[in-house]
Amino acid sequence: MKAIIGIVASMEVNTDRYHVSLDHITAITRAGGIPIVLPYTKQLGQVKKYLELIDGLYLIGGDDLDPDYYGKEPIPELGPVLPERDEFEIKMTEQALAAGKPFLGVCRGAQILNVAMGGDMYQDIQAEYDTTQLQHTQKAPKEHGSHHVNILKGSRLHQLTKRTTLKVNSWHHQANKSISPGYQVVAQANDGIIEAIESKESLFVLGVQWHPEIMAGHDDLASIRIYQGFIQACEREEVK
Ligand code: MN
Repeated sequence: MKAIIGIVASMEVNTDRYHVSLDHITAITRAGGIPIVLPYTKQLGQVKKYLELIDGLYLIGGDDLDPDYYGKEPIPELGPVLPERDEFEIKMTEQALAAGKPFLGVCRGAQILNVAMGGDMYQDIQAEYDTTQLQHTQKAPKEHGSHHVNILKGSRLHQLTKRTTLKVNSWHHQANKSISPGYQVVAQANDGIIEAIESKESLFVLGVQWHPEIMAGHDDLASIRIYQGFIQACEREEVK
């Protein structure tokens, strides 16, 4: 059976339209999954029903997380926040993992994963991360791998990509900071910024800070393998 992948739709502050880039849909479809787009709502009771519909959860990019979720006051550099989306995605992540559903988060999705599991973040890496910094908001074309990441040997990400370094695209001014127990940092940029985390358990739970959906659409093999691994994990869990 093909795996059904739930994608929680994004929205921009002060707009009234949900959206999901075609890149996400294409990456999931090409890897053999069936994407369904789930609008977040104020009705948190919908989370359980949504989870009954899907074999895996996929979270995408968007605005900043409310720092209150990791016990911080907002600093001036914090960008727009959508409290309803934060609340819904955090709840959805907690319940998906509790239900044994595989998870893949890209960009903000990797941050939601970490915060939902009890980790914290840099609200703005320029303001809060003081060692040498790379350009994490790239000015190069969106599919260009602009900075390197070093991948932990033996990690799921290493097994998937078969690489110990990758060049990745990068648009983030926030980043994960401390990681919750049960998780490990599996990719870092050369300035030390965390670029991917994953669960130490056998369930497929991976968050990457970059945008593999765009690179996969430009035939980047490592990105394609991330989606293939995720979809295969969802198919396996569905059979159980
Ligand atoms: Mn980066």
